[in-house]
Formats: sequence, structure tokens, C-alpha cells
Amino acid sequence: MIYAANFKTNHTRTTTRAYIEALSEKLVKKKVEDRVFVFPPLTALDRFEGDFTIGTQNAYPTQNGAYTGEIGLEQLNEFDITTILIGHSERREHMHEDQQTVAKKYHFFMEQGFEIIYCIGEPLEVRESGDDAVAKYLLAQFKGIDLSYEKVIVAYEPIWAIGTGRSATVEEIASTHAMLKSNMDRPLLYGGSVKPANIKEITAIDGVDGVLVGSASLDVESFSQMIFC
Ligand code: PEP
Repeated sequence: MIYAANFKTNHTRTTTRAYIEALSEKLVKKKVEDRVFVFPPLTALDRFEGDFTIGTQNAYPTQNGAYTGEIGLEQLNEFDITTILIGHSERREHMHEDQQTVAKKYHFFMEQGFEIIYCIGEPLEVRESGDDAVAKYLLAQFKGIDLSYEKVIVAYEPIWAIGTGRSATVEEIASTHAMLKSNMDRPLLYGGSVKPANIKEITAIDGVDGVLVGSASLDVESFSQMIFC
């Protein structure tokens, strides 16, 4: 299983370090086949030792240059960071990243050999329009995305389930993952209000290879409880 923690705009450099130290101690008991990722805020990126991978929540597709407020490869290379989240619905919505922008970023970091967690997800009105509408919407988010890239992990995150406390049902996750798996052959995570109370039933679903967790990953005890559920 894959367990990924997305801190979003939470935690500081100091609290991230304390979190990672605590997590690292717990991960000594981790199953070898499991993988753990942590995506701290950009200001907390650093070198950390342990059985996990640190990734960046975002970067601009450039080596360096005049892109005020962004970081590029030069800043990631300083800490040997080679993992990135791309396509998260919050960036698509709040930062207005359209599919073309997302695909350009994907292509750039793929060319650099990065491991990519590529996020897709539908809004509530699409979910309420039925399975065909959901499939059409999600598959459109693969436009310009090379899914034959061996270092991409896809994360299905229904927008209406993110940060709302309301996870998709087991049936919704199972049918959506089955549809996605019939269109690609990459590991597939589920994200959207995953927490210690529902981790077992979600990871037991056929076609779920792991989880991307926001709110419930902010506390190290809660995140490790899910890893060792
Ligand atoms: C996320 O934003 O990737 C996410 C899944 O958030 P939450 O777990 O808070 O729903």
C-alpha cells in the first residue's frame, strides 16, 4: 500500500521536522512493500533521513528564472527532491491551473525523471450526473498526460470528498477505480476524507493501491495509525 500525506498550507519548518522525526521512528516497523510519502509546505522542504519519500506539493516547470513566488528544479535539487504532486484540485481551482498548464508541468517533470503523483477528481454536480459523466470528466483529465510513464502514480480524489469529512462510498470508489484501471495500468490512490475510522474499508477495496490524505495526515499519530491499521 501507498500512504501519502499532503500537508497543504499547514505545518511550519519546525513542526514538520518534529513530525518527520516522530514518523521516522514509527516507520521502523513498516512493511517493506508499503511506501510512505510526505508533502510538506515548500518552506519546510529539506533533507530528511528515513523510510519515506519527501515530495513537493508544487513547482514551476523551470530550472530557475523570473517566476516570482515559484520554485523550480534548482531549489528542489538542493534537497534531492524528485517527487511532485501535480493536478491537485485545489491548484486547478484556486490557482486556475487548466489541463494544458497541468500537462505542461507533467511533461517537464517527467522529462526530469521525477516520480509524479497525478491527481484527478470530479465536482459534485458531475458525480450527481451519473457514472458516464464521471468517466468522461475524469478521462478528460488525462489529456496530455503520458500514462505509460513508469514513475506516475494516479490519485483519484473526488472534489466533493476533499476536506469535507464525507468520503466517497465503498461502491463509488470501487466502480470509479475499476473504470480508471480499465483505462490505465498504474498504481491508483484514493483521496478524500480518508481517516483512521475508514482506512481499513478503503484499503480493502479492489483497485485501491493506497491513499492520499490531507486533514487526517496533519497529526503524526493519526497518519501512522492509518499506516499500521
Ligand atoms: C487532499 O487534499 O489530497 C485530501 C485528500 O484532503 P482530505 O484528506 O482532507 O480530504
